[in-house]
Amino acid sequence: MNILVINAGSSSLKYQLLDPESGVLLAKGLCERIGIDGKFTYKAQGKKTLDAIDIPMPTHSEAIQAVLDALADGENGVISSMSEIGAVGHRVVHGGEAFNKSVLIDGAVLQAIEDCIPLAPLHNPANLTGIRACQKVMPGVPMVAVFDTAFHQTMPAKAYMYALPYAWYEEDKVRRYGFHGTSHKYVAGRAAAMLGKKPEEVKLISCHLGNGSSIAAVDSGKSVDTSMGFTPLAGVPMGTRSGDLDAGILQYEMNKRGMGIDEMLNVLNKKSGVEGLSLVSSDFRDLENAAGKGDAKAALAQEKFAYEVKKYVGAYAAAMGGVDAVIFTAGVGENDKAVRSMVCQGLEYMGVKLDAAANDVRGKETVLSAPDSKVKVLLIPTNEELMIAMDTAEIVKQ
Ligand code: ADP
Repeated sequence: MNILVINAGSSSLKYQLLDPESGVLLAKGLCERIGIDGKFTYKAQGKKTLDAIDIPMPTHSEAIQAVLDALADGENGVISSMSEIGAVGHRVVHGGEAFNKSVLIDGAVLQAIEDCIPLAPLHNPANLTGIRACQKVMPGVPMVAVFDTAFHQTMPAKAYMYALPYAWYEEDKVRRYGFHGTSHKYVAGRAAAMLGKKPEEVKLISCHLGNGSSIAAVDSGKSVDTSMGFTPLAGVPMGTRSGDLDAGILQYEMNKRGMGIDEMLNVLNKKSGVEGLSLVSSDFRDLENAAGKGDAKAALAQEKFAYEVKKYVGAYAAAMGGVDAVIFTAGVGENDKAVRSMVCQGLEYMGVKLDAAANDVRGKETVLSAPDSKVKVLLIPTNEELMIAMDTAEIVKQ
């Protein structure tokens, strides 16, 4: 069964058509400038690529229609009829406490996603628009919602509660939710397979290091703690996000620089992280280049990032009472051998022994640790779309 995976933003929509059983990607692409003019991109193996061609897209419905037309196109398409799309899997950012797993979408689910809008005011409305457009253009095709937050719903209260007035949790839903759940779940599953173990038999620390980064402690296949929190601003420093900080700094700097809270949050989300610290870039390739040419701030930003990731590895090993493997994934984790090496350096005492030659690799499933390393270090390219397609197929089959 082929699954169409949709990741809808407010003016864009990413799509992939996958066969989750074989893992084969049939086609993928992007609709952009929805509601403005409409640009359509389509790529499929052995077919002509469409690169940002003009297709009018006043709403997400026209965008979905363009996707279906391209997929079933006589010359360039990859399916002969719509019946070859068994279901649609939608990425949804926030499921709050309502969803601890992926679900078949019905009216009640749509309402619950809507109820989570205050928790993700930018993302959930766009995700909902994508779902509704799909329902309109593909009536009768089952749709599944896959939430970024769901995998982390297994965290115990001691991990998800903040030491804040209890009413903030009870009345306002303030707690740690965590994000990147689909990615952490996918790589944790692959890691168990690489170790030749069942998910229930392993303790894993998953480091999703991209432009946004989060670390998750996964014990027996379940997330037991994660570094992002109520919002994706928490945890390790990121491309432009600060990560964890002393909240006292907010008052001090707001007074000193005459900033309001919106401006402050904008700085913490968009002008901090390795970019803010280095004054060079949010991109780790640029940091590497600049550091190589002697830029001390770029080197510091890299070092600070790796140091904070390392501290989470230590913390989560403590939280789980041990760790069998540390996983590196996402843009930085999959490509940046210098950062991986800096994270692992100094963890030898706990049984982490990186193999420098094995670590000289990018973007493919690899054991990076030495054969005698007690804790394995794994590079696992993430594949959120495949995870969404796998979840969707499983739910539709039930
Ligand atoms: P997002 O969080 O946007 O999904 P990605 O997981 O795609 O991000 O990661 C993007 C980041 O990966 C880039 O900002 C860059 O810092 C990093 N990256 C990509 N390729 C490389 C590379 N070859 N070396 C180092 N870092 C890289």
